[in-house]
Amino acid sequence: MMQRERVADDIYVFTSELYAQVTAGAIITSDGAILIDTLVFPEEARAIRAFLETRLNCPVRYVINTHYHADHTYGTCLFPEAQVIAHTRCYELLATRGQAGLAQAQSSTPELREVQVVLPHMVLENGTMSVHLGNKTVELIHSPGHSPDSIVCLVKEDRVLFAGDTLMPVPYFVDGDYEEFVTSLCALRNGGYENVVQGHGEVILRGEVEEKIQSDLNYLERIRVHAEKVLNRGRSLSELYNLDIESCGKSRIPLNGLVQELHRANLSALYQALQEDRQAAPLSSVG
Ligand SMILES: [Zn+2]
Repeated sequence: MMQRERVADDIYVFTSELYAQVTAGAIITSDGAILIDTLVFPEEARAIRAFLETRLNCPVRYVINTHYHADHTYGTCLFPEAQVIAHTRCYELLATRGQAGLAQAQSSTPELREVQVVLPHMVLENGTMSVHLGNKTVELIHSPGHSPDSIVCLVKEDRVLFAGDTLMPVPYFVDGDYEEFVTSLCALRNGGYENVVQGHGEVILRGEVEEKIQSDLNYLERIRVHAEKVLNRGRSLSELYNLDIESCGKSRIPLNGLVQELHRANLSALYQALQEDRQAAPLSSVG
């Protein structure tokens, strides 16, 4: 149902085998655990809880949601004793789209019937926020782009970064903003991280981090250049769809091929956004 790995002495990563290799992480401290994201299905969250509380005797004191999307937040309701922390936009989005999305998901997926949206008890408004528990410090940093409320979480003592969906096998900005994504990726450069936990897929090791960030920036640049070209020639979105993911420097294999769908959705969102920009300011977009 999920894989568990250890990325530092006191840090575990749980990767779902049920949905898109979404990840959650636990930081074990002398005063309890900090859980970062909670996976989708109650049985997965229960298995994380059993491991931390029964095996390690380390109850979850804080849950941090990296953003409001279902695959990162549905398990939060399985930790009713924990204080939940997220960005202030996450609170708003959970209360609106999150609630609506859950009702819809529950009608088609019986396993989700017991899920309840948990609104964060504490929110980060601007800049950064630090969570201190036992011998560990986790710094929360706003990192919009994948979604408006995305944050990344740095475990300071271990230099382990939980990047949420700011890092995943292919950058995905359909519910967020292209320019903000570029800015957020640039902010992760030269962080000196030991390990980086992506929101989906494999953990990135120290020696691969800078290359991964650059590859994501190259991907974003490549699709933008191509979308501009297609628009300049007055061609339709279907021509942009010919731009395959490999020619943008990414493999089509990760997440069991789901990345291809993400790539296509990126192309569509970018085409529409650029087209709207041109309609809003036709002269300034020339050249
Ligand atoms: Zn996700």
